[in-house]
Amino acid sequence: MDKILMTPGPTMVPEEVKRISGLQPFHHRTPEFYELFSNLNKNLKKIFKTKNEVLTLTSSGTGGMEAVVANLFSSKDKVLVASIGNFGERFYNIAISYGLDAELCDFGWGQAVDLNILENKLKNDNYKALFVTHNETSTGVTNNIREIAQTANKYNTPVIVDAVSSLGGIPLEMDEWGLDAVVTCSQKCLMSPPGLSFVALSDRAWNMAEKSNLPKFYFDLKKARQGVLKAKPDTPNTPAVSTIMAVKKATDMLLEKGMDNVYKNQALYGKRVREYIKSLGLELFPEESIASDLITAVKVPENYNASKIISYMSEKHNVLITGGQGPLKGKIIRIGHMGYVAEEMLEKTFEALRDALSSM
Ligand code: PLP
Repeated sequence: MDKILMTPGPTMVPEEVKRISGLQPFHHRTPEFYELFSNLNKNLKKIFKTKNEVLTLTSSGTGGMEAVVANLFSSKDKVLVASIGNFGERFYNIAISYGLDAELCDFGWGQAVDLNILENKLKNDNYKALFVTHNETSTGVTNNIREIAQTANKYNTPVIVDAVSSLGGIPLEMDEWGLDAVVTCSQKCLMSPPGLSFVALSDRAWNMAEKSNLPKFYFDLKKARQGVLKAKPDTPNTPAVSTIMAVKKATDMLLEKGMDNVYKNQALYGKRVREYIKSLGLELFPEESIASDLITAVKVPENYNASKIISYMSEKHNVLITGGQGPLKGKIIRIGHMGYVAEEMLEKTFEALRDALSSM
């Protein structure tokens, strides 16, 4: 029996999507592929809520983040990274690796971005861009990207968003909110196997790309855009065709359901998980007002061992959750409920957690 993945990705893949990703992959220079890719691109634009092209890269989410850094900036460009956990730090580390003059504004693991502090930073310095994480998977906190972008746009600062664990699960309106780069991947809210990242850029970001002097080859976004804009759209190199087939199907399913309904459901799952955690007498890690509807971080009670809870749930109940990362290792457990979640999966997770705690 398959393990139930209540993790922050890869997440569960619905049967219909699994069936398609198990088919013989199309060759990527054929009419079948051009049609598939063109339809995928249409779906992605609807989910990103952008008029611009969404580029498909064969990589995990981190590859998409790296592509944005390599394509929009030049060495020594001064940028601000608003971090609230592991993935904010990852963006900072990528920027540093590419020789950017990156400043880390650390709001603390478990906190959300404080708009006043952010505004003071943006007011007093001249940054080429602001980097920010939408849903910080390491701490179970969601940032208010709309307000962050409003603040940044007051100072004409382009906004680069890591939406790797949020896009397709909670509202994000790229054009309407004035976001300049949005990155996501296949294996989280988009209900598909790993293998692809997706990147969309605003017109302002494409202008930045014209000036960038950083090295890029595989992740050259201009080449990727040329491919998407062709009458027979394709990618510069061999893409993860099976994952493209999967994401096309998964995005059809999301759009058929309607994104507003998808967001409503995800919000309900978030609420249900938090209520259950509290009913067990456990404490949520972040304050509830900033808690993510896609992943719930829970403090490990004193005298309990996080890894034992996780392995008990996995071995006895076939339900996989995850522990904390970095400074939160051993201190929290994290239950993912993003992407494809069925009622039965939630119930099994609740039962597994209750049983694990009572067995200890
Ligand atoms: N950003 C966020 C918010 C994430 O949750 C993750 C993965 O968990 C990443 C970036 C990195 O994505 P990947 O592991 O696909 O490279």
